[in-house]
Amino acid sequence: MKNKMLKVCVVIDVEGFISLRQGNPRWNRWQRFKGKINNLIKNFRYDEKGFDKIYNLIIREKFPVSFMLVGSLFSPRKKTEFIDYGYHTLNHLPLTLINDKKLEREVKNISRAISFSAPLWMIEDVKNPDRVFNVLKKEKYRVVVYRGIDDGIKYCHYDAIKPLIERNGIFCLYKSNDFQGNSSKKKMTSIFRDIEKNKDKKAVYCITTHDFVHKNLNNFVWLIRVLKEMQEKKMIKIVNMKQLIK
Ligand SMILES: [Zn+2]
Repeated sequence: MKNKMLKVCVVIDVEGFISLRQGNPRWNRWQRFKGKINNLIKNFRYDEKGFDKIYNLIIREKFPVSFMLVGSLFSPRKKTEFIDYGYHTLNHLPLTLINDKKLEREVKNISRAISFSAPLWMIEDVKNPDRVFNVLKKEKYRVVVYRGIDDGIKYCHYDAIKPLIERNGIFCLYKSNDFQGNSSKKKMTSIFRDIEKNKDKKAVYCITTHDFVHKNLNNFVWLIRVLKEMQEKKMIKIVNMKQLIK
């Protein structure tokens, strides 16, 4: 492997419809209204069984991914080298907004995961930035998806293409982009162009998505095909989060 080759990491938060039911603490009244409507029409727009569909595709393609599972709804399936089963908390609660006792219950490492993603990426509050990291470290997680700092329900999250950074002994993987089953062709090609443009960067390009937003798998199939082609041309290396820290 070339020394400077972009790594690409696909991370799927697996949560069924839990976040649609919960809404988002950051929403204003109008957004809450839209969220309620979205929840009502969820069976029309989304697929609660998205995990099954994506899982079968990943097995067929032997494509490296990290599945981040909500523990009250999903548990790890067959072990393979290309699948990393990470944790997306027990009940999908916003970690920076809940008390210590709840926090410990939410992140308790019941399936001995190595990787972790926080609901709404709320992992580091400006008032006590180390709090969630310290509990994650105690639970022996080693790598988390990262997007920046929160301030109560306000936040300054951003996407970036960076090498892993270390925080309190935990590696942070910056989210770089995201996609869904109904993302436009333009959006998908912009991701591919972005990866190509950064192929010689010593960094990780992290693409996130959710299980339930893939009612239609065409974009996922397309992503896998393009990334495999890029890997064959030795432009990128496809890895999951566990492989990243090996
Ligand atoms: Zn989530």
